[in-house]
Amino acid sequence: MDAKKLEHFRNLLNEQLRANNEQVRDNQRAAADMIANDDGVKDSLDLSMQDHNQELALRLGERESEAVAEIDEALRRIDEGTYGDCERCGKPIPVERLEALPTARYDAACQSQIESRQGAGDISTL
Ligand SMILES: [Zn+2]
Repeated sequence: MDAKKLEHFRNLLNEQLRANNEQVRDNQRAAADMIANDDGVKDSLDLSMQDHNQELALRLGERESEAVAEIDEALRRIDEGTYGDCERCGKPIPVERLEALPTARYDAACQSQIESRQGAGDISTL
């Protein structure tokens, strides 16, 4: 991939990273608020709702950190010069796929083979 394209994807990934970091901060703030408002609430229903909300906020944070880890990986591949190559077969991943999914590690063929082996349908494909 040429330097100009790489720079384009680096910008895309940095933008996603920034958006995700904001999301993580929001979630952490929401969780902190819930914990801060904890005292004085003795009603058991309220307490269980609060536990539920805290757990939800933490879980959302986890998902965001996974996304951040994926973006970090992709940025690392740009630095190493392996970005845009399928990690399974080594063929270049089509630019259109990377545009839609800048963190893609596999081309569509390998992705679908990996998915059918895992039987998981929650990995985005094109
Ligand atoms: Zn492949």
